[in-house]
Amino acid sequence: MFLTVHAAGGIIISQAVKEPWLIFTLSFLSHYLLDFIPHGDEGIGRWLEVKNRRLFLIGTADMLVMVIYFIFVLIFIPDINLSLMMLGAFGAILPDFLSQLHHQTSNYLAPLHNPLKFFNRFRLTRYFLKRHDQIHRALHWAIEKNMPWRLGLVFQISIVLIFFGLVSLI
Ligand SMILES: [Zn+2]
Repeated sequence: MFLTVHAAGGIIISQAVKEPWLIFTLSFLSHYLLDFIPHGDEGIGRWLEVKNRRLFLIGTADMLVMVIYFIFVLIFIPDINLSLMMLGAFGAILPDFLSQLHHQTSNYLAPLHNPLKFFNRFRLTRYFLKRHDQIHRALHWAIEKNMPWRLGLVFQISIVLIFFGLVSLI
């Protein structure tokens, strides 16, 4: 699922809940819940895995769209609590960065393997990243089955619009 969808979910939580630790925890958990819903990532995932460049391009575009979403929220909801908003977004996208960190550190063909491989040196981080990635993947693919990516894209854009509507109501 695209980062923007997760971030948009985290932003709702950040405005609905008051305690920062709870915002972070619920946003973090919301990631797995959203990933669990089928959203057409199956085909994109396979297409991305073929070339590192694709992963880099889509990853960059994904982050760019997320930043545009942040700007959009700040323009339309100027009284939003910015630091809590960022905390919610951070918690909500963190699982994807942890899994990417696992991929980059454990796969020597990954483009950022060299600068990041130092995380793999410590048994604890290596174990944590591996176990986290296993759980993340298991939840992600639990019911995801062959949804066409175009439909998935429309679905994800719809969720972002609904989340934007919700956050402007809070
Ligand atoms: Zn994910």
